[in-house]
Amino acid sequence: MPKRPRAILHNPLVREALRQAWLGSNPGISGGHEEGGVVIQVSPRKLRVVRWPKGVQNSILVPPHPGCVMGENSIVASFHTHPNTGTDFLQEPSETDKRAVRDDPDLQGGAYVGEFVIARETIYLITPDGQVREVADPHVLFAQP
Ligand SMILES: [Zn+2]
Repeated sequence: MPKRPRAILHNPLVREALRQAWLGSNPGISGGHEEGGVVIQVSPRKLRVVRWPKGVQNSILVPPHPGCVMGENSIVASFHTHPNTGTDFLQEPSETDKRAVRDDPDLQGGAYVGEFVIARETIYLITPDGQVREVADPHVLFAQP
């Protein structure tokens, strides 16, 4: 994995926020709801996580983010959870997920690495061009102090 997505994912503050989002989305066979948000760069060395309002079932209402910016700060990554682990539910990013990243003109900022999709066994990254790769094992990532 390129350095930048890894560095973002392993930032202690980001890691904790993603863990909270995962737990908050009520993972299980069914009945989960997606949680998501963005990671913004608030100073050259400091990241912050902004969570979206709670999703309804499988959708999240994403606030506007013109020019890949929230407030004054560049969006460096976005994320959402796939909490339902039953066989009826897709764990990996859906076609809609990929399109939502690739076709969003406001997610094409130079600092933006893509959207992390957190599922039980894998954290995926949808890159700005709509490709998917597996970037981390959540059991390992979230177990770190
Ligand atoms: Zn999704």
